[in-house]
Order: sequence, then structure tokens, then C-alpha cells
Amino acid sequence: MEKKNAWLSYDEATMAKVEAFAKEYCAYIDGGKTERECVALSVAASEAKGFKDLMKVVKEGGKLEAGSRVYVNWMNKCYLAFIVGKQPLCEGMNIVGAHIDSPRIDIKQNPVFEEGELAYLDTHYYGGIKKYQWLALPLALHGVIAKKDGTIITIAIGEEETDPVFYISDLLPHLGADQMSKTAGKLIEGEALDLIVGSKPVKGEDEKASIKDGVLAILKEKYDIEEEDFESAELEIVPAGKARDIGFDRALIAAYGHDDRVCAYPSMMAVLDYEGTPEYTVCAVLCDKEEIGSVGATGMNARFFENIVAELYNCAGGYSELNVRRALQNSRMLSSDVSAAFDPNFAGAFEKKNAAFVGHGVCFSKFTGRGGKGGSNDANAEFIGGLRKVMADGGVNYQFCELGRVDQGGGGTIAYICANYGMSVIDAGVPVLSMHAPWEAISKADLYEAYKCYCAFLKDAKPVVY
Ligand code: MN
Ligand code: MN
Repeated sequence: MEKKNAWLSYDEATMAKVEAFAKEYCAYIDGGKTERECVALSVAASEAKGFKDLMKVVKEGGKLEAGSRVYVNWMNKCYLAFIVGKQPLCEGMNIVGAHIDSPRIDIKQNPVFEEGELAYLDTHYYGGIKKYQWLALPLALHGVIAKKDGTIITIAIGEEETDPVFYISDLLPHLGADQMSKTAGKLIEGEALDLIVGSKPVKGEDEKASIKDGVLAILKEKYDIEEEDFESAELEIVPAGKARDIGFDRALIAAYGHDDRVCAYPSMMAVLDYEGTPEYTVCAVLCDKEEIGSVGATGMNARFFENIVAELYNCAGGYSELNVRRALQNSRMLSSDVSAAFDPNFAGAFEKKNAAFVGHGVCFSKFTGRGGKGGSNDANAEFIGGLRKVMADGGVNYQFCELGRVDQGGGGTIAYICANYGMSVIDAGVPVLSMHAPWEAISKADLYEAYKCYCAFLKDAKPVVY
């Protein structure tokens, strides 16, 4: 099939819309560098659009009807939004689902130590990173510390111009003879990802100088954090700084965490911007823990999604266990997650006919998984046929792609998990260059096409279901 660059289809007015949407997106990712921060921003955006907290509705014994708009904050790490449709829920929903966790480096529970006149926090990386990419960069520290008395201290240090940043050192090339002969996976070991947090000694009551004590004194004074409070902290190290345009033509964006906020943001906005009452209930779900296998109470493998659908059903009327099962089974879903963009510098990792190209629009992946389609969702042809019509009618620039060459590796998303309910699911997202690197790159056109794709999908009043 001939591949078309989406930019060529834009008139000036559309170019302005593409630019405006990219700007809103950048504000979201600059403020949302962790799943918790994304949830907070999403809740605020929902309330601004008149969406009500579903759990409040539940507590107050409230009722929902066609056109009702609700959101859910699940454990401060997942976010869901619904608009109740005209059809009963058992006819299924149109769902867009993304994740808002991104690869990063987390702080351990007993992290503080001093060595060689430097104070450090010890870390355990999160998700699939090339560890060497995280060295010698300005890093920021985001997260929460839950104190014994129930106080939650929220921090974000390293994003303001006047903030300090944090740093993981690398070996100078002059002394890199041994290091450079190692394979890239061994250039730096996980245990060597130690974060420099101080180097100025203070003298204690016993006149002994300690750099660690100096750091702990600052933590106590500025943030009311004791050393043992790290036991109940969730602190994430992410690249410091804001999203930036790439290139003379400013058509790409470099930022941390495009995977998968570049799909999460347009997914959420497709619901928040929805005008009127949909035929079928529309839903956006932004989940956590995708990067480590969708595990835990906030990962898509947990039961929160069906539990929330049950609550929604109960408020909308007609609840039964069977009806909840029907609602899930009859649903259609776009698993809105990123794919790998063809990279000419690493062309050998791709199969060009089936690669996603930057600027060619939202990309659909029938299957992800590894060689032999292992672990993939493999969406039904009938469902895809219907979607092609929805995309064509919506004027969406889209492409069909596969993540890399057959035996080269692969990836997974939440698609196969949601498909466990029997719903029709396909991956549809934005192609990313340097996925999982501290600074990833995407095209503004692809971001805009993803938004158009999700809007068109949610509006589909005659979905094909098999
Ligand atoms: Mn992803
Ligand atoms: Mn990922």
C-alpha cells in the first residue's frame, strides 16, 4: 500500500490545530512526569469539563443517565472517564486505553549512603531501559513520601530553573578501556545506577564530618523527611526538563515519557472533548504498570476496570453480573499505545513495508508480541475491516505496522489483557523514535492523527463486533 505523509494533507487551518494540540500535549507531559502527576492533571481537566467523580456518585447513591459524564481516580495511579451512552451498557462500550507509567529509575527503600566523598540514593530501575542512556544527564526526582502519621509529602525537584538536579556519573573515556570492550547491556550494572544527591560534609555533635548527614539534615529541614521515611516512599528519577521541538521545521517533539502519554493524552481528550450523548458508552482508561507487565492493583491485569464498570452499571440502572460480563464482552477497544518508528540509522531492525513511519499518522498493529506472534493479541480481521471504514470516514491518516522485524524482538501492550474479556481490541498509537530512551521523539502530525482516530472511533455508532 502506498504510504502518505500526513503533513501533505494539511491546509493552514489544520496546521494551526496540529500545533495547538501539540502545545496542550506538551503542557500535560511537562506537568505529568509520573503516573500520579498524570492522574492529578487528568482529574483537574475532567472537573473543568464538568465530569463528576463516579465514586462520589456511588457514595451518594446517585443515578446516571445517557449523557452523564464521570471520571474515576483509581489509587492516584489510574484514571478513567466515561460518558454514558444511549444504548444500554450491555451493548458494549467504545474504549480507548493507554498507560501513564513510563520507564524510569526508582529509589530503593533503604537508599541513602555515602562513598568517596559523595552522598547517594540507591536505585532500582523500572521498565525496559538501556541503562547506559541514563548516565551523565540532569535528572529530576518526583514522587511521594507517606509518613507514619498519614501525612503525604509530594515532591518534584529538578524541573524549575532554580532547582538543583540529580546525576548518575559515567566513566571518562580516557579510563574507559575495560568499559568500552563490554557489550552495551553490561556498560553499567543496575546496582551501579547510584544517584548523586550531595557532596558537602557537615560536622555533627561528635565533630565527625559526614556528607550523608548533611543531606539528611536538608531533607528534614526542607521536606520534613526522616531517613526511615524512604521505607514508605515512591520516588521516581526522570530526565529533568521540558518537552522541546526538534528540527528547523519544529515538526517533532523530544520529551520524556511519550510512551505512553502521547496516546494517553489524546485518548483522554477524545472523551473530555466529546460533544453530546454517544450512542454507545465511551470510555478512556489510563492505567499504570504497563512497563513492568501490567501487574499490581493498578496494572491492567487487576480487576479495577471491571469493578468500575460494575459500579457504573449500578448507577446507570440494569445492573446484573451477567450484564457486566456482556458490557465487557461486547466492547470495542483501541489499545492506544506507541509503536516503533522506522529509524534509517537502524534500518536493519525493521521490515520497511510493515514499519511505521514518522508523520504517516496513527499506526494500527494487528499483533505485537515476539517472533511467532508470541504473547500477542492478534485482532480479528472483521473488527479491523470495520475500523478501516471508520478511519476513512473520519479522514484519519493511518498506517498498519509491525514493531520491527519478525525475529528481532518485539513488545507488548495492554491489548491482550482486555481481550481476555472477549472484547475486540487492536493496538492503535503513535510511532516513537528512541522509545524508552530518556528523551523520545514523536511527530506532531502523528499525535494529532491519534486524537482524530480516537475521536472517530468513539463516535462510531455502528461498530462491527465479532
Ligand atoms: Mn507503551
Ligand atoms: Mn513501553
